[in-house]
Amino acid sequence: MLLLQQTRSNCHIIYPPQWPTHPGRDNKTDLAINKLIDLQETQRPGSHARSQFSIKGVPLGIFTKGKQSELTGPPVQFIPIKPIGQPMDLELYAQMQILMANAINAKAGAMLLTLSGQGLRVQLQIDGVLHDREVFDPNAGTLLINAFKMLSWIDYTKRIAQQHGSLKVKFKSEKYSCEVANQLTQGQERLLFKISGKYTTPPERLDEAGMNPYTFTRLKEFMFDPVFVIASAPPKSGLTTTFNCTVGSVDRYLRNAVVIEDVSSNEPPIANVSVTTYDAKAGQSPKDVLPGVVRTYPDVITVRNMTDGATVDILCAQPAQDRIVIGGIAAKDAVEALVRVLAMEPDTDKFIATIGAVVNSRIVRKLCSECKDAYPPEPQLMQQLGIPRGRVASFYRPGPPKLPAEIRQRMIDQQVPIVCNACGGIGYRGRTGLYEVLMVTDELRKAMKKTTKVDELRKVAQKAGFRPFLEEGVMLAARGITSIQEVIRVLKSS
Ligand SMILES: [Zn+2]
Repeated sequence: MLLLQQTRSNCHIIYPPQWPTHPGRDNKTDLAINKLIDLQETQRPGSHARSQFSIKGVPLGIFTKGKQSELTGPPVQFIPIKPIGQPMDLELYAQMQILMANAINAKAGAMLLTLSGQGLRVQLQIDGVLHDREVFDPNAGTLLINAFKMLSWIDYTKRIAQQHGSLKVKFKSEKYSCEVANQLTQGQERLLFKISGKYTTPPERLDEAGMNPYTFTRLKEFMFDPVFVIASAPPKSGLTTTFNCTVGSVDRYLRNAVVIEDVSSNEPPIANVSVTTYDAKAGQSPKDVLPGVVRTYPDVITVRNMTDGATVDILCAQPAQDRIVIGGIAAKDAVEALVRVLAMEPDTDKFIATIGAVVNSRIVRKLCSECKDAYPPEPQLMQQLGIPRGRVASFYRPGPPKLPAEIRQRMIDQQVPIVCNACGGIGYRGRTGLYEVLMVTDELRKAMKKTTKVDELRKVAQKAGFRPFLEEGVMLAARGITSIQEVIRVLKSS
């Protein structure tokens, strides 16, 4: 009965409003974990899980329709796309509820279950980073993964490389949807839930998305005039947010703004900006719809993805017509974005003369405001980063939760794990943008005519006052919004 007992007691601990606390972790580990990014695994015994799970068989269709009183888990309701009509055990269901409640409470963007000979490993992707959670033994793991597959309408009797399904989840009156993908490789099976729901409302402007107020004001003033601005970010890493927020930073309530995008791009809408689509699958590009858009005399023309030189040429002609232009492109940094546009072979002279500024972004995790600690920067690190002595008074890092000494001692005495309630001991909570904004100066225009080497162009830009990511990141870390380790992690990974 150990598994069931743990399941029940676990239920009390992890149940909202608290964050999940893991059974089997002691105070010492928790404090140590607090300083690391990943949580330690806990092994849950469950060798007799199969017999324990099959005590009560209840047709799923019945209790997904609302017999919550029979359920022992958190108020998670799984809503399959069509009724399953197959019995499922209450305890098994409760364990699935616990896993999903943990994922949603942690605001996880994804939950990954990996089943191998060692057992089932549960991982949550929180703020873009994978964290290890529970581990179940192989028997319990197989039951859980098959039950989740059944709910997602993935055929668990089929042993094929890839299957896809979906599942809706209701938790505390909020609805979430999960896209579920099942992957079989040699010796391993993975089930990935991409969870989407209303964790947060997306930011609308660059300052709301984390750009520092000084840079934002400068850029906003710059975009008051008819200029050509590029919004860029690494592929699949915040490009949509950066583009939408750059467009959102133009005064679109006073101006008539249009966004041009691929009909199948499925991007979130931008308030008060009308959409014109082209069909990339049919061989179209923004250049095919741009003349029609220009004829409607918009004040702001934006292209979500600049794909070709001909599109860039049409965009370059717009500022002279008193229009603001914003073009999106995937690039690792601001200077690379310029070089990528040049590689599309637009009218080079025209582009160099017209382009005004480039925004590029990274996503960093924010330190948990409840448990962050200030510390003096290590001189060696400052030297490595090239930051002059005395420039930064403190950096911040995840620390132990701040508790009155008396309460802390009582928790230690009672062997209650000391974990920050706000972040669950991860030390980070939520994410923000890190930005570099390149204003194209005459020196840079001259250099662009001579070279397309990113390093050389960056040097010219820095001489003219351009602050690259690392410097922006140091400032963000000095303000305590993130840690310098997080800045380094993010910049290294891209
Ligand atoms: Zn915290």
